[in-house]
Amino acid sequence: MLASVFLCALAATLAVAQNATYDYVIAGAGTAGMLLAVVLSENPDITVCVLEAGGDGRTDTNITVPERRGTIQDTMYDWQFMTSPQPGLYPNGTEGAQPVPRGKVIGGTSAMNWMIHNTDSRVQLDIWESVLNLTGWNWDTLSTAFRESETMYAPATNESQFFKYDPAYHGSSGPIQSIFQRSVLSLFPQYLEPTLLNAGYSIPPDRNDGYAVGAGFLPLAIDPHNYTRSYSGSAYTAVQGRPNLHVLTDARVTGIDWASTSSNITAAGLRYVSDAAISNITQHVVGREVIISAGCIQSSQILELSGVGDPAILNPLGIQTVVNLTNVGEGLRDPPMMNYLPISFGVNTTFTGGEYIQNFIELESARNMLSPADYTAASEWLNSTTHIEGVRDAQLAVFKELWFAEQPLIEMAWQFAVQNVTPYNLIPLSQGNVHINSSDPLAAPVINPNYNRINATINGTEVEWDMWFLAKAAQTYETRLATNSPMNSIITSTDPQYDLPWDQYYEAVYQRTGTSEHLTGGNPMLPLEDGGVVDTQLKVYGTQNVYVVDGSIFPYQPSAHPMGLTYAVAVRAARLMQQSRGGGGLTFTEQLPGSNSSANATAVFPTQPGSLTPSVGTPAPAAYTGGAPGVMCASGSATLAAMLLALAFLA
Ligand SMILES: Cc1cc2nc3c(=O)[nH]c(=O)nc-3n(C[C@H](O)[C@H](O)[C@H](O)COP(=O)(O)OP(=O)(O)OC[C@H]3O[C@@H](n4cnc5c(N)ncnc54)[C@H](O)[C@@H]3O)c2cc1C
Repeated sequence: MLASVFLCALAATLAVAQNATYDYVIAGAGTAGMLLAVVLSENPDITVCVLEAGGDGRTDTNITVPERRGTIQDTMYDWQFMTSPQPGLYPNGTEGAQPVPRGKVIGGTSAMNWMIHNTDSRVQLDIWESVLNLTGWNWDTLSTAFRESETMYAPATNESQFFKYDPAYHGSSGPIQSIFQRSVLSLFPQYLEPTLLNAGYSIPPDRNDGYAVGAGFLPLAIDPHNYTRSYSGSAYTAVQGRPNLHVLTDARVTGIDWASTSSNITAAGLRYVSDAAISNITQHVVGREVIISAGCIQSSQILELSGVGDPAILNPLGIQTVVNLTNVGEGLRDPPMMNYLPISFGVNTTFTGGEYIQNFIELESARNMLSPADYTAASEWLNSTTHIEGVRDAQLAVFKELWFAEQPLIEMAWQFAVQNVTPYNLIPLSQGNVHINSSDPLAAPVINPNYNRINATINGTEVEWDMWFLAKAAQTYETRLATNSPMNSIITSTDPQYDLPWDQYYEAVYQRTGTSEHLTGGNPMLPLEDGGVVDTQLKVYGTQNVYVVDGSIFPYQPSAHPMGLTYAVAVRAARLMQQSRGGGGLTFTEQLPGSNSSANATAVFPTQPGSLTPSVGTPAPAAYTGGAPGVMCASGSATLAAMLLALAFLA
């Protein structure tokens, strides 16, 4: 370990001593940052250096074996944050504070997460451009970027009688591999699907087509060749020999080095310390462009530590304001989920098949998830509301548009090989912030998603909106399953009891609800006057060359799980940056059938998707065997000779 820390230090020292300058230096080798580096460095003329605070877990089977997902939480691969107390949630002995697991390792949270890999609806992403004025950011450009990130393998057989996989809506040559699960629990085709149809829900063929509403299986980011997690860490493994891509681990970025803080505020690079704390010497990496990809908890921390933020926060901490940008750290959201104890069903039958994860995910509109009376009452409140304290008007406008366009606002996640379902309020109106409260760069920021703090008046009664909507949807859905055929013939009990009086049902949902672990926002891409931190080039307002690329830039909560959109943002950011440098021949074209894309692109997607048929069986260990030919400072993986060789291009 000492040797690797020394080598990291030497690499940086040499780079500085030789007056070397990377084209891009990136803080964070996470979901977005690592994929961004992989795509940017496709162009051999572009040099990229990534600084990652965590280590290299690419051979650790707790990361690579899908069945072990979740086991790296509360380990050295997890930042192990907590939110501040949350008065909108059930106190539960912690004043409502929620754990915030985040990956601290190459791949970031994509090394830790549950690998669900879906896309948003066309309407939802088109709103970015049409309502939020984000020119060039729409479903066409983002779904193109998503497909560029993905290689999708067709399922061996259709997993239900309804599901029809359509290769036109999936990528076929991207670095993130995705599949459908190998074995389906008989609950789904025999009981749940017919019940959902009888209850009036739909089971569309393939929800990557831009029409996301309905029930069915979603892809998982798993490489079928060896049945291992496919994530931005494995994307790096595939290209780690590139001499123009350097990744330094155990390198904790403590701030931006500025070349100029006067009229043209220009970054010179990043400074960092060893995260292993063996050495607290500050080191520096020089770059022409600086990209912050530290995720929605720490990207704003790095900006604030560097003097980009609200002077009211920075001044008391003795941090000189470089860019007065009060929006930094604002707009953090975490959709509330009934995750502590989902809805469960007792049944009088035994199901067959299935495996560790089922991933049957239902995405529904408000109209489909509320009784007609509740939907009408809630719609009346929304219609009559023009401003909500704590919610930006543009965000309220988007929410209304999604509500009335019957876009997905509630998810019902059947994720386990047991009969329970987790309700999830996809797009909460409540939002909070994340800010530093110390100038110590190693101190955790204060994380306040501010759950369940918006009040609404429904039928003359004041309710807490996010929890009301979640509980109403949960009770309606549970009731429909318990009373429709054929589920009603096998259900012996429900928990919570589906026909509890409303107050008791609400209390049950309230007590079981907390984080969905899907935090986004904090550095939204929006016009400055609407609360933006970055513009449509992802450049931080007021700076010449500082960018943010990760889930913190989402201007609005996506209704799909956020990983897919995070990858899409990374790919699109890479393409924009390549194009701004003259393109290097790398441009992209929208090729979806019926597309009305405004993108100007030419990249070709192979006409056939991956053809490998995944086999059912015991998962194989990771294929990666280590021995990085590029510069790696992970424990014992680099040699001085390799590093010096790789650094030669920097001079
Ligand atoms: C338990 C869990 C399950 C989830 N399941 C799913 C799922 O199934 N599907 C889905 O779509 N989404 C899921 N998510 C959410 C999704 O994984 C995240 O939204 C997404 O990965 C975030 O990507 P990011 O690039 O914004 O941040 P991250 O991936 O967290 O990347 C940030 C990186 O920056 C590094 N970093 C931070 N600070 C510094 C610093 N100062 N210096 C250097 N490096 C630094 C971090 O170590 C990390 O590597 C899940 C999340 C969790 C926690």
